[in-house]
Amino acid sequence: MKTGFIGLGAMGVGMVRNVAAAGLLQAVYNRSSEKAETLAAELQVAYCQSITDLVRQVDVVLLCVSADQDVIAVVDAIAKVIKPGVTVVDMSTVSSSTAQQCYAVLAEKQAAFLDAPVSGGVEGARKGVLSMMVGGDEAALNQVSPVLQTMAAKITFMGGSGSGQATKAVNQVMAAGINQAVTEALAFAQAQGLPMQKAIQVIAGGAAGNWFLSHRGETMSEGIFEPGFKLALHHKDLAICHDMAERSQCAIPLADQTMQDYQQLMSVGYGDEDISALFRLKRKD
Ligand code: NAP
Repeated sequence: MKTGFIGLGAMGVGMVRNVAAAGLLQAVYNRSSEKAETLAAELQVAYCQSITDLVRQVDVVLLCVSADQDVIAVVDAIAKVIKPGVTVVDMSTVSSSTAQQCYAVLAEKQAAFLDAPVSGGVEGARKGVLSMMVGGDEAALNQVSPVLQTMAAKITFMGGSGSGQATKAVNQVMAAGINQAVTEALAFAQAQGLPMQKAIQVIAGGAAGNWFLSHRGETMSEGIFEPGFKLALHHKDLAICHDMAERSQCAIPLADQTMQDYQQLMSVGYGDEDISALFRLKRKD
């Protein structure tokens, strides 16, 4: 199964190395060409100057780009040359409606589209242990599973097109609440004058322990906010969640508050920092 990868950002670069290690990677493309050129040389695969160049040489197209309009633009370019029977797997986080739109565009070409957003952060991407939630046709998923298994430890079929993204939206609402809880609690811990490393370690081993505390607790309390997951991207995800919540008459106040907090941080230039930069608003000056 010859595989091509589009989007070599913080997540893509980790994922693509695992596809290559399994011997399945044929070609890479990135909008800023230097990243693709360097990685293609390192992994000894084809470097593509255009999306169409990549699509012509593969059976499976993986993509991980930023936001809705980016996925739509990439899929429109893919649709120009895709052959029947090829499967496109989008691992970006976007809305369910974008996923359904892409599914319809590719169905016209007798090609499959799976929405397959992931959770697990850049660490999970690098280690190949992401959790992947998939919407679309189950037969197409079964066909490309050997490729997806190189990147994910858990792959769950959620149902028709868009249901992977709907599940990811649930994840993002939860991540917002966890961010609020952990940053607030650690600012409180600092205000008590506690030894932070010890406090984080003991709490991480108990009932309040969680991934975010274990992976971002120490760095945030030292004032280090390197992504990770850029807060501008989580802000984009929470806007999607807000729309979905409104349509289903469901309140998500913690997620809405987090979106406002991110907006405040973005307005003073912190949008490219990790989501743990929420700690900036909680800690004492
Ligand atoms: P990132 O580091 O900002 O990388 C984005 C990638 O998308 C870059 O390669 C960028 O190309 C490419 N891109 C953006 N717009 C494009 C367009 N219109 N056409 C072609 N390529 C385009 O972001 P990331 O952290 O890897 O996140 C990627 C996706 O995964 C997002 O949807 C995010 O929400 C999701 N996600 C991220 C995490 C995380 O922890 N980081 C976890 C789970 C899911 P350039 O290099 O040219 O800019």
